[in-house]
Amino acid sequence: MNIPTSKHPRLVIIGGGFAGLKLAKSLSGQPVQVVLLDQHNYHAFQPLFYQVATAGLEPGSIAYPFRKIFSASKQVFFRLACVNFIDLPNKQIKADIGNLSYDYLVIATGATTNFFGNKNIERLAMPMKSVSEALNIRSLMLQNLEKALLTNDANDKDSLMGIVIVGGGPTGVELAGAIAELKRDILPKDYPDLDMRVMDIHLIDSNARVLKEFDERSSQVAMSELIKMGVDLRLNERVTDYDGKTIQCASGQNLPAAMVIWAAGVKANIPEGIPEAQLTGGRISVNAYNQLIDFPEVFAIGDVAVMISEEYPRGHPMVAQTALQQGALLSRNMKQLLQGLAMQPFHYKNLGSMATIGRNKAVVDFPNFRLKGWWAWCMWLFVHVFQLIGFRNKVVVMISWAQNYLRHARDLRLIIRPFKQSN
Ligand SMILES: Cc1cc2nc3c(=O)[nH]c(=O)nc-3n(C[C@H](O)[C@H](O)[C@H](O)COP(=O)(O)OP(=O)(O)OC[C@H]3O[C@@H](n4cnc5c(N)ncnc54)[C@H](O)[C@@H]3O)c2cc1C
Repeated sequence: MNIPTSKHPRLVIIGGGFAGLKLAKSLSGQPVQVVLLDQHNYHAFQPLFYQVATAGLEPGSIAYPFRKIFSASKQVFFRLACVNFIDLPNKQIKADIGNLSYDYLVIATGATTNFFGNKNIERLAMPMKSVSEALNIRSLMLQNLEKALLTNDANDKDSLMGIVIVGGGPTGVELAGAIAELKRDILPKDYPDLDMRVMDIHLIDSNARVLKEFDERSSQVAMSELIKMGVDLRLNERVTDYDGKTIQCASGQNLPAAMVIWAAGVKANIPEGIPEAQLTGGRISVNAYNQLIDFPEVFAIGDVAVMISEEYPRGHPMVAQTALQQGALLSRNMKQLLQGLAMQPFHYKNLGSMATIGRNKAVVDFPNFRLKGWWAWCMWLFVHVFQLIGFRNKVVVMISWAQNYLRHARDLRLIIRPFKQSN
């Protein structure tokens, strides 16, 4: 990998998501050589993927190059690499670009889509865990509408215009609301020859309400707003199979849809080599300092890690705040460790949850109070712009949102790289 030797110990971080990036940034200047490895050359802001998928934001505005972030840090080395194997006993990682030994290792590889073993759904449904997958959704939605224009077969039209979103968490709710707004404000002008009443947007969830991690009243607000926007909510429903044209549901009510967006679950993204004994519930088991139980020089942070405690018997929520807080604490602990001092245990600070449903509509649950409507929406906008990396991205996103809001516009309805469905 051409990493120079150093008089300082080497800390290898796998993954520059919320957790890994927070850690790498705050270790710059410390007596440690930091090597950051990521399969992409940019940090991606996942909470705004849905805006890329629905033509609201350009992908470049929610991604930021690692090399720019670390251009002034002499002790942080970035390598574009996909890590395939971790050899814990020999303190070495194996990646597609070569092997690298470490003194300390931090696994921050996040999570990937969980299709729960259904191969047809995995092959044919659209996940949204990367910038390119968000762009695939944008392309396929537009490609299907173009195809719908060309057919006079009512069943084909139903299927090509139908969109099913599986999973009523924040991602599913945000996608459903954004697509409903596209259908209402934009698509009738773009496709005057298509009868938009045929375009059904279904949101399916196996629970009795959407946003099940939120306060019940916030869920009710989200559900009633979605219904007002024309989204067909199918709760207590389970998807069983998909053939690319029709989605099958456990209730027997099947839905025509050439596009199914899968927002129903995630699982930890664990490179090979981690023994079963180090895993709990499919995530890497860590102690209160994010250390692997049998390998104290190895840490796991963010979505990939599970820290069981009395308060969190199934681990902390797989959200950005957990990843950021664990990344921040590990950087402080690493500084302690390097000086031979004691580390501090992790305590999760619940800062609340938020989801936007559409224009002027959002719900925010803080630990002690809730917001909904316009105020919640403003709060959602502010928090998301604030968390973006890079001045340019913040400005571009603010300008794009102002323009979309004032003009009821989504100007990025572009099929840049047509999506090819696998057979
Ligand atoms: C569509 C979507 C919307 C979301 N919305 C919200 C939200 O509104 N609020 C919220 O709090 N959370 C949200 N989340 C969850 C949040 O994004 C995650 O909890 C958070 O990103 C976890 O951070 P992480 O650092 O653990 O992992 P990630 O941010 O996923 O980063 C993992 C990094 O590891 C890299 N990587 C993975 N495997 C390898 C490998 N083998 N080799 C090299 N590099 C690798 C990846 O490229 C990536 O850069 C959302 C997630 C998604 C997908």
